[in-house]
Amino acid sequence: MEENIYKYFEQELESLDGTGNRRKLPHAVNEGKYISVNGKRMLNLSSNDYLGLACNHKLQNEFLNTVGEKDRLLSASSSRLLTGNFGIYDELESRLAELFRTESALVFNSGYHMNMGILPAVSDSSTLILADKLVHASIIDGIRLCNAKCIRFRHQDYGQLEKLIEKNKNDFNRIIVVTESIFSMDGDTANLPLLADIKKRYPGVMLYVDEAHAVGVRGKNGLGLAEETGCIKDIDFLCGTFGKALCSVGAYIVCRKSVREYLVNRMRTLIFTTALPPLNIAWTKFVLDHLPDFYERRNNLALSSNMLRRIFVDKGYGCISESHILPLIIGKSEDAILKAEDMQKKGVYVLPIRPPTVPEGTSRLRFSLTASIGKNDLELIIKSL
Ligand SMILES: *Cc1c(COP(=O)(O)O)cnc(C)c1O
Repeated sequence: MEENIYKYFEQELESLDGTGNRRKLPHAVNEGKYISVNGKRMLNLSSNDYLGLACNHKLQNEFLNTVGEKDRLLSASSSRLLTGNFGIYDELESRLAELFRTESALVFNSGYHMNMGILPAVSDSSTLILADKLVHASIIDGIRLCNAKCIRFRHQDYGQLEKLIEKNKNDFNRIIVVTESIFSMDGDTANLPLLADIKKRYPGVMLYVDEAHAVGVRGKNGLGLAEETGCIKDIDFLCGTFGKALCSVGAYIVCRKSVREYLVNRMRTLIFTTALPPLNIAWTKFVLDHLPDFYERRNNLALSSNMLRRIFVDKGYGCISESHILPLIIGKSEDAILKAEDMQKKGVYVLPIRPPTVPEGTSRLRFSLTASIGKNDLELIIKSL
């Protein structure tokens, strides 16, 4: 037996140091579109606060001044299946179903709970899961808990996807195709109409789409890429999160009533966890009620994203992004760290994204734009490149 039982962890951490892949929790103070780290104030390009609402005190005060006594609770004290199912949950879910024009909706504690819970609940050994190679870690972890067989297809290679469906369709009861709509690391977008078309041609195929980075940002009313592309009705499991553009906490699925009821009975990350506090749910509903009004913010974000994308291309970096998330691919982790440090010195807070979050050799800086970025901010970014 090892004498110092902690030695293993210490050695592992040292080897992470050696490859530039050791992570640390940064201390940060957020002030609107700025962030102060170790006393240095920088333009924050690493936040998921895509609509620039998370520090909007006016909106928060409006909410706090109007929220009713019964929704001010700061704990649900139990799972929704026991005593935690407060009325505000039903109100939020009705509102979601109304907005998306679906039969029903179900709310979860986080996107992580959502992705860890849905696939294991709805799949069994006669299910095949076909997931895009680049789906989020939370989806991968959910798949690990499934009894289903899973094959990951090459990123956005829908030709390969269709071949896999063709080859396997007679061996499984159902096939669930899983993708993000805007991919979190490359900022590129799934072709939802094409996926909907594939689904329509194969009756055993269901679609699972995670809109974590698109909800609030895309679509006329901010409902996501599925709204923008007219595909809401074609997606069996249309999911998204409240923690990013919607400046709250939690996640949702909009779906058929039978799917919702099934999840209530089978989804362990819904059943075995304390529900979010009613106050948070009330705030999410408040933000959703205002979602169509944030049209100008969405527009502004689209404009500055287009502009920065063009700059990346002009400067020879190339750009695969089709959204407000723009990767600047560097290659080696060490180089990405140096470049990030240089940009931070110049007042732009971008962070290096390294393995295992992205594949080996594709370490990068991830620029995540928000609706608060103005013309002067863009100029600062361009200068600092
Ligand atoms: C952020 C994210 C999640 C996790 O959502 P949380 O609410 O932060 O747990 C899930 N899926 C994707 C694609 C994400 O980017």
